[in-house]
Amino acid sequence: MKIICIGRNYVEHAKEMNAPLPPAPIFFMKPESALLRTRDFFYPKFTKNLHYECEIVLKIDKVGKNIDEKFAHKYYSSCTLGLDFTARDIQQNCKEKGLPWEIAKSFDQSAPLSKIWIPIKNKAEEIKFELEKNGEIVQKGSSQSMIFTFDQIIAYVSKFITLKKGDLIYTGTPSGVGEVKIGDNLKCLLMGEDVLNLNIK
Ligand code: MG
Repeated sequence: MKIICIGRNYVEHAKEMNAPLPPAPIFFMKPESALLRTRDFFYPKFTKNLHYECEIVLKIDKVGKNIDEKFAHKYYSSCTLGLDFTARDIQQNCKEKGLPWEIAKSFDQSAPLSKIWIPIKNKAEEIKFELEKNGEIVQKGSSQSMIFTFDQIIAYVSKFITLKKGDLIYTGTPSGVGEVKIGDNLKCLLMGEDVLNLNIK
């Protein structure tokens, strides 16, 4: 199982990062050990600026390579929410030096994932989500404000990498990313339902 993450997939988030809009999906990967399925997240010692990024996550249902965009909807049927934790200080340093981002993005437990999946009945359906930090809404997103759709992402990624059943795609975060500190609580709401609740310890 692999975790593919899309970067800069919302206009407002690209702006807040002072980054240009991508002409094609930007992706990177996290290992299976990045998954976190418990309520407690332990703040890593190697960063002083850990950011939350709440994202819609797709689960791939069957193997596929070079998937045509018009058939991409056959490769997933449900979604949930996850967090793409990012050590922003380390990422910034990597960017400045032109180095890969893995140590900022792919560390153990950097990908908390909800256990509650909702079916995607038709591809035109709007999927809305929110992230609350300590009871306050800090991020609001919708599948309809993504730069690259689920189907475009699957078509693009599968040109390079074979997708397999059980693979996860974190589809990018909307604007409002920010820091978490020990003692914070993060709550991810998918279509208004609390699907992931995390305590930072
Ligand atoms: Mg992200």
